[in-house]
Amino acid sequence: MTIEQVGIVGAGQMGNGIAHVFALAGYDVLLNDISQESLDKGIAVITKNLARQVSRDKISQEDMDAALGRVSTTLTLADLGQTDLVIEAATEREAVKNAIFEDLLPHLKPTTILTSNTSSISITRLASRTDRPEKFMGFHFMNPVPIMQLVELIRGIATDEPTYKALVEVVERLGKTSASAEDFPAFIVNRILMPMINEAVYTLYEGVGSVKSIDESMKLGANHPMGPLELADFIGLDTCLAIMNVLHDGLADTKYRPCPLLTKYVEAGWLGRKTKRGFYDYRGETPVPTR
Ligand code: NAD
Repeated sequence: MTIEQVGIVGAGQMGNGIAHVFALAGYDVLLNDISQESLDKGIAVITKNLARQVSRDKISQEDMDAALGRVSTTLTLADLGQTDLVIEAATEREAVKNAIFEDLLPHLKPTTILTSNTSSISITRLASRTDRPEKFMGFHFMNPVPIMQLVELIRGIATDEPTYKALVEVVERLGKTSASAEDFPAFIVNRILMPMINEAVYTLYEGVGSVKSIDESMKLGANHPMGPLELADFIGLDTCLAIMNVLHDGLADTKYRPCPLLTKYVEAGWLGRKTKRGFYDYRGETPVPTR
């Protein structure tokens, strides 16, 4: 099973990062989105991030030019029909993903591997709605994709061994490291990371520490590069809450109960960096704790 042409659905935060790393690794990439504006923005982000890598001597100007030359865009999902591997990285809503697969499937080669970058939706359930559950997998990149080393590979109940092995090889060619996870809520990284962030919010909620003391404690006392509340703001508090809800619903254990203070921040629209306010206020020169 040789993979040379890769189709990516969704040119947002994750889709453009995935396109970036595949193009740098020499794959031909076809990037799809529903609006020309999203595609243009995706290409602009890839160009900016590649230029940053050139300025830091991580890659050469020739590498950058070659990578950009390997990325093309399309508004027509059917154009992805000739690719060997499709990575769906569209909005995190099951109905959106199912509709994409339904439109795409009639155009795909029988050998094409179909994957989803979903952070929380059951791979087995998504696969069961397609014509190729044995060639379907979770392909979970971390944000920001060009920087983070790990890729989680999630097998659905029906995924076959050649499909899994093909993706292990793809991750190696990308120069990244894969970890294999079973198809249970939030897989490995978010299963461990999100309850820690949620516990940090409880620590704040119960007045055990302030935003500053909680983040400093985990940075200096546990050697974490970022404090848990700073990290929550970076990920997006709505995303953190959504993942806690997936864990709570999917595993039916009260230990995953989202902290009411996390819910309150999300209700206020204080979602972290993207809205300029979360556990810190980002509207000034330096972030200021909001509690
Ligand atoms: P995003 O909102 O930045 O991008 C989603 C893109 O999908 C948008 O450009 C949107 O126009 C496009 N889209 C929506 N419907 C579409 C359709 N029918 N066809 C084609 N494109 C469509 O979201 P994101 O953060 O890039 O997340 C994408 C996926 O990656 C989600 O499944 C998410 O769970 C997963 N993920 C996100 C992160 C993260 O930290 N943001 C990390 C790992 C995985």
